[in-house]
Amino acid sequence: MSGFASIIGQLHAIGALTRLIDNHRIPNALLFTGIRGIGKRTTAVAFASAYNCVSDTQSPSSGNNGPSTACIDGRATPCGSCSSCKKIENGQHPDVILIRPEKSEIVIDQIRRLLQILAMKPYEARLRVAIVTQADQMNSFAGNALLKILEEPPDKTLLILTAEQPSNLLPTIVSRCQQLRFRPLSRSEIADILTRQHGIHANQAATIASLCGGSVGKALEMNDPGWLEWRDWMLDTLCCWDRLTVNVRLGIGEKLLASPTKLDQALDMLAYWRRDMLMAKFGKTTFIYPDKVNLIIQAATRYTVSDLIACLEEIHRMRHYLSARGNPKLLMDNLMLKLA
Ligand SMILES: [Zn+2]
Repeated sequence: MSGFASIIGQLHAIGALTRLIDNHRIPNALLFTGIRGIGKRTTAVAFASAYNCVSDTQSPSSGNNGPSTACIDGRATPCGSCSSCKKIENGQHPDVILIRPEKSEIVIDQIRRLLQILAMKPYEARLRVAIVTQADQMNSFAGNALLKILEEPPDKTLLILTAEQPSNLLPTIVSRCQQLRFRPLSRSEIADILTRQHGIHANQAATIASLCGGSVGKALEMNDPGWLEWRDWMLDTLCCWDRLTVNVRLGIGEKLLASPTKLDQALDMLAYWRRDMLMAKFGKTTFIYPDKVNLIIQAATRYTVSDLIACLEEIHRMRHYLSARGNPKLLMDNLMLKLA
């Protein structure tokens, strides 16, 4: 399965993209927003394939000036086997350019290289597609350089940006892009992907699907060996959080920072645990950690509602400053000390 057909749960975005192709109304720039791991980059690549597919279903009258009939008939389905589709699939198409953060950010040299490429004509594509993933990780120099592309759009070129936090992008960039929102996937969609596409056992898939917040990317990280043990350690720690000494808390912060792939999930867990305690306070039973319900109810008696809300705000602030590339060590120490 290739193209849009392989993307699960994003019917709204794919419908909008299909209409752009059908109506031959390709904007200069698109911005795909939504949490990570829900198919933004895959959809951008599928769009490039759909528009540039050169399979023999192509209409004789369309020549090389328009998308193939596979797109014109509204299915927007690339064949997956023509030379264009194969090159795009293998990341070897000269006119489908992918830029992603090097280490933790996108720097000006990467955007300068892109400018040099876009100054030339496309090699062979009907529509050249430059995809900048995690564009919210661009530093301000790179962002300003990218703005030049938006102000003077190159011929036969579409720029697609993907971002989890569009608020971190320059407003002048956002305002020049047509924005498409991608939604988190439902638990059943995630469980289905895990079992069908990744061969994960149904029970394990159901547990992970309930914890990953609708992100396939997170779900796959959670399937790593040792993840469930790590989750249990986190939850045991959270159960007795208010009884931990300052030194122990700072040590926990260090341990969390030492594993950057789990940091995002750790912050989720710090927040979800307090969210569950709030639910307990209000007599609700919709818990994110239903397997820990007795411990949650017990722990909730030691907190006030305003304590819990203040903690959630603190975690939210930490996320914001981290995404704005603040000093992780300082931020984590601060969070460990402030969380009630
Ligand atoms: Zn094709």
